[in-house]
Amino acid sequence: KLLMEVKDLTAVIAESGKKILNGVNLSIYEGEIHAIMGKNGSGKSTFAKVLVGHRDYEVTGGSVVFKGENLLEMEPEDRSLAGLFLSFQSPVEIPGVSNNDFLHMAYNARQRKLGQTELQPLEFYGHIRPILEMVNIKPDFLNRNVNEGFSGGEKKRNEILQLAVLGADLAILDEIDSGLDVDALRDVAKAVNALMTPTKSVLMITHYRRLLEFIKPTYIHIMDNGKITKTGDISIASILEKEGYKAMSTP
Ligand code: ADP
Ligand code: MG
Ligand code: MG
Repeated sequence: KLLMEVKDLTAVIAESGKKILNGVNLSIYEGEIHAIMGKNGSGKSTFAKVLVGHRDYEVTGGSVVFKGENLLEMEPEDRSLAGLFLSFQSPVEIPGVSNNDFLHMAYNARQRKLGQTELQPLEFYGHIRPILEMVNIKPDFLNRNVNEGFSGGEKKRNEILQLAVLGADLAILDEIDSGLDVDALRDVAKAVNALMTPTKSVLMITHYRRLLEFIKPTYIHIMDNGKITKTGDISIASILEKEGYKAMSTP
């Protein structure tokens, strides 16, 4: 079943009017893992941020249908409620708020909006415990302040924890592999793989091939100059390895 269809999407930086996305086309079906690769500055993060409705960007053309709805007309918050999740390249620190409280608040806010049951602190702990195990995070991690003094690896684990707690039909993971050592990467990948079900999908953005050894994509897309210039299976990655992004660029 078609989950998201992006057609000829163009977008500019709101402040300067500079064009960044030059007609992106992408269809994602339920249960698929898509990887977008491409050199630095090719527009990968911009694409992710435009999908979640980041205010720095203005859509100038094209369409995005998510679960049958016009995504571009939805407020960022509603996009998240509809089942879209974006990990952040640089997560923020929130002083004085424990990770547990933050997750609990976010979880209940979501439940409230969806008209579903909110959880009391103990019930929430019961909900989150198996998730902690799945993403290999120690329970005392919950008592620390959000992202305060987290190492790069801990921040990434925390993002996956947020994804696991809140749930999403399409998880967009932007450079979830950056700055991770192999053990942390393996854990993060294990958690992402564990979250996959036949109806859930992942769009992962990465500059490096290493991630693809741990999370196997259904399709790999190469982004160049604000559009997807090539789509293929895992074999594209080995061409990249040998010849670099140059081999993928359109002249
Ligand atoms: P990638 O994620 O592929 O490295 P980005 O989407 O981050 O690429 O950036 C694409 C281009 O758009 C770059 O030239 C970048 O400098 C520019 N850009 C992206 N966001 C902004 C912004 N908010 N303000 C100014 N320039 C931006
Ligand atoms: Mg970049
Ligand atoms: Mg980026």
